[in-house]
Amino acid sequence: MMADMHCHLDLYPDYVRVAQDARTQGIWVLAVTTTPKAWHGTRERLNSFPNIQVAVGLHPELVQSRAHELPLLESVVGGTAFIGEVGLDGSPELRKHIGLQQKIFRQILCSCERAGGKVLTIHSRRAVTEVLACIEERRDCGLPILHWFTGSKSELEFAKRLDCWFSVGPQMFLTPVGIQRVSSMPRDRILLETDGPFGKVNDQVLTPAAVQQVIGMLGEIWRISPEDAQLQIENNQQAIWRFAGIKNP
Ligand code: MN
Repeated sequence: MMADMHCHLDLYPDYVRVAQDARTQGIWVLAVTTTPKAWHGTRERLNSFPNIQVAVGLHPELVQSRAHELPLLESVVGGTAFIGEVGLDGSPELRKHIGLQQKIFRQILCSCERAGGKVLTIHSRRAVTEVLACIEERRDCGLPILHWFTGSKSELEFAKRLDCWFSVGPQMFLTPVGIQRVSSMPRDRILLETDGPFGKVNDQVLTPAAVQQVIGMLGEIWRISPEDAQLQIENNQQAIWRFAGIKNP
């Protein structure tokens, strides 16, 4: 079963339909949320889907307006295995809040560590080194998955030293630089994602089943058959599910 490890399911116009389609197509989805309040509502609506887990998040783009929801996130960390979307964003318009972003991200990592470790899906746009520095302070936060990683070669080496995971989507295979980046990632630390509905290819919004599009390209990069590439990804997913205590999704 292929998994979309980073999808904003609750942000599609008709997301229950997207969830149903994913179930029919045999796709498991980690539905990330951008605020703890959204997590509550989304979880209620998707509770009955065996192929979906909803991660509780506090997106770095929203910390300025939603910092007060941090206690809500912290109050549910103990009862859930998946955290995200969290992280830092150093884009010009968000850099002015980087101090607050770091404070919140550090507190979340600390909560995860105290709770025995969680699976985290992490945003690091234009702030990779800072994200990794925070993770380095909390090595026992769990399994950090860097989503849509766009760091430099040396940042990738730093991430590998911290044993980070990477979730990659079809968008990352559109440029030679992106392909080069994916080929430098450790094969046994790669997962798939769409980042839908933000993730698009040729102006088409990706839905969870689009993760299958990259299997062939991964096979080419690794010089193995698509079947073996799929097996590799399935093994990687198993490691995540095992850590999260999920049996036979
Ligand atoms: Mn995202």
